[in-house]
Amino acid sequence: MQTLLKDSGLKITMQRCKLLEFLTQVNQQHLTIENIYLGLNAQGETIGLNSVYRIMAHFEQAGIVSRRVFESESAFYELNNKPHHDHLLCLTCGKLIDFIDPLINLRLGLAAEHHGMSIHHHSLNMYGYCFDCLQALKSKSTR
Ligand SMILES: [Zn+2]
Ligand SMILES: [Zn+2]
Repeated sequence: MQTLLKDSGLKITMQRCKLLEFLTQVNQQHLTIENIYLGLNAQGETIGLNSVYRIMAHFEQAGIVSRRVFESESAFYELNNKPHHDHLLCLTCGKLIDFIDPLINLRLGLAAEHHGMSIHHHSLNMYGYCFDCLQALKSKSTR
């Protein structure tokens, strides 16, 4: 934990350690600032919402987390300990699903190349309805 902070060039503070510890322990991969704030305080940490904002911004700059922005949703943060992946977002319940499709990545690379561009990074979000929400919708309409 501390080496991760050290390697990123960030000063080690109690609050940063606590926050990073929380991010690695919680078994939810995508978290909003509110999720993190409420989670930490539920664990008895007294940390202000503004501090969470500030520290997450530092983590993002240091490359420890990625900030994911979705249409009409607050931003989610996730640790940069996974390979590059894209996202599916459920418009009903807000569930966020990770997926990796090497073919898509290949096609995107080719498309960029076609326009003489070299890709630095990309983000691809798809919006729809998850399995659970579809089932719920169906059972409602047949009632
Ligand atoms: Zn859903
Ligand atoms: Zn993700």
